[in-house]
Formats: sequence, structure tokens, C-alpha cells
Amino acid sequence: MVMGSALSPESTSERGTFMAEITANYVTMPLLRLTVCECGVSMLYDHIKIGKVYQVYPQPLRGGFRCGQCGKHYPDIELVWVKQHGREYPGLMPWGLFHEPGEGSKS
Ligand SMILES: [Zn+2]
Repeated sequence: MVMGSALSPESTSERGTFMAEITANYVTMPLLRLTVCECGVSMLYDHIKIGKVYQVYPQPLRGGFRCGQCGKHYPDIELVWVKQHGREYPGLMPWGLFHEPGEGSKS
């Protein structure tokens, strides 16, 4: 596995372990919506369509999210690591893009 040169040396090992765990536990999930913001503007690129399948690490983090379109901040939103095609590293995306509200809390 080739690590990015932009990473600082002291964080590379820890980050690499973390990324390996994420990569080993991806599940394939389709995108259910394009925004989690009440402004309704898509937070994703225009060419991305609902139903596009991502590799998602389905362990939500309590992270917070600021809408890139209207600037509204959602402090309690859950984020998940998502691997996008063609990207070496996953990025955080709102969990709400991938599941229905209320789902996931019951087993
Ligand atoms: Zn917004």
C-alpha cells in the first residue's frame, strides 16, 4: 500500500492502520439523496446521481457538517468514511446520504 507523501511521518503509521481497517470493512451502499441540508442544494458534484454506489464504512461518527452551499452548520450530524472511485483515500460524508432517517437505530 502506497501512502500519500503529504502525510506527516508521525501520523502515517496510525493513519495507515486506520485506513486498512476501514478498507477491510467497506460495504457497498447506494446513495439515497444528494443533500442533508434543508436548503436542498446538492452537496455533491453534479454528475453524481442518486443510486450511485459507494464503498461505505458503516460506522457513523458524531462529527458535524457544514453545508457548502448555504453555510448552515449541523453540529450533530453523523459522518461515515466513504471511498470514492479513483481516490486513494476515503473521505467523510454525511451518513444521512446513505440511509433513511430512523433506520439503523434498531437491529
Ligand atoms: Zn445548505
